Amino acid sequence: MTRNINRPLHPARMSLAEVEAAWQVGGETPLPECTYDPELHVGPRLTIETSEERAARESVAREVCASCPALPACTLYALEARPTSGIWAGRTPDELAGEVVEEREVA
Ligand code: SF4
Repeated sequence: MTRNINRPLHPARMSLAEVEAAWQVGGETPLPECTYDPELHVGPRLTIETSEERAARESVAREVCASCPALPACTLYALEARPTSGIWAGRTPDELAGEVVEEREVA
């Protein structure tokens, strides 16, 4: 798997070429489910959502991630990318940061 994470780009915003560059599994590239509705994972561009709307949106995004064929590769990518917003591999940035800390404590 080749990943270049100088500037974290959410999988929902990736082109197919960027997905292929970010991850491959057994010579195949699992397509991110989030590309079908990017705002579900990264939030709306033109409107401000309430905290309740955001929680509901993120809950649905987590469900999409749970059945996404790219989840294993996306998890590794998200842990390395250290995003600051959005739902990545079914996790918030804070949840991902916690997992990075846990990995360091185990090592
Ligand atoms: S696991 Fe979630 S964030 Fe990652 S590619 Fe799949 S749908 Fe997108």
